[in-house]
Amino acid sequence: MARYTGPKCRYCRAERAKLFLKGARCMSAKCPMNNPAECGLPGKSPKARAKKPTDYALMLRAKQKLKRIYCMLEKQFKLTFEDASRMPGKTGDNLISLLERRLDNVVFRMHFACSRSQASQLVGHGHVFVNGKRVDVPSYRVKPGDTVEIAPNSKNMLVVKENLAEVGKSGVMPWLTVDPDNMKGQFVAVPKREEVKELEGVNEQLVVELYSR
Ligand code: SF4
Repeated sequence: MARYTGPKCRYCRAERAKLFLKGARCMSAKCPMNNPAECGLPGKSPKARAKKPTDYALMLRAKQKLKRIYCMLEKQFKLTFEDASRMPGKTGDNLISLLERRLDNVVFRMHFACSRSQASQLVGHGHVFVNGKRVDVPSYRVKPGDTVEIAPNSKNMLVVKENLAEVGKSGVMPWLTVDPDNMKGQFVAVPKREEVKELEGVNEQLVVELYSR
């Protein structure tokens, strides 16, 4: 499966926002976005930075931001958008709910992994079971009621144990339950758009407009 392997902080600099792509480092003093004024836009001169963005640039930035938060490449993201546009209801809301249902995202939100890219690796390497069966596809769509757990042979992984300490510190999202001792959780319901606080600065309507051009 293709994935981006370049510098992740570059993405945050491009979006002028913390996208939390590197786990604990994002919360530490080492995060370059702690001083955004000192971080230039990647590959842009100060003159280009001062220009007023066009409508197209705003739509493109909204799409890039959402895609990068969920650690996806363009093809996968567009296919997810197309699925969302075929569903009843608002396409923007459907898109967020499909992104939230991705197995790598659920593994990250259950604190089995410290970032979505680490979650994607855990899934890809076969360390995750869904409803008692191994699933190694990060884009697998979890359904309400599904149980997600670390594979029995992988429950001694130190990295997962360390990540699960976060459950005690920050808790879990209201649409999930997690049992850290058994490294197991349940996806209780598909979250509503307004419940996904991490995306408060994202305008998914601009993504819809971009792909509808
Ligand atoms: Fe890098 Fe994380 Fe900071 Fe983004 S939030 S700049 S990925 S350390």
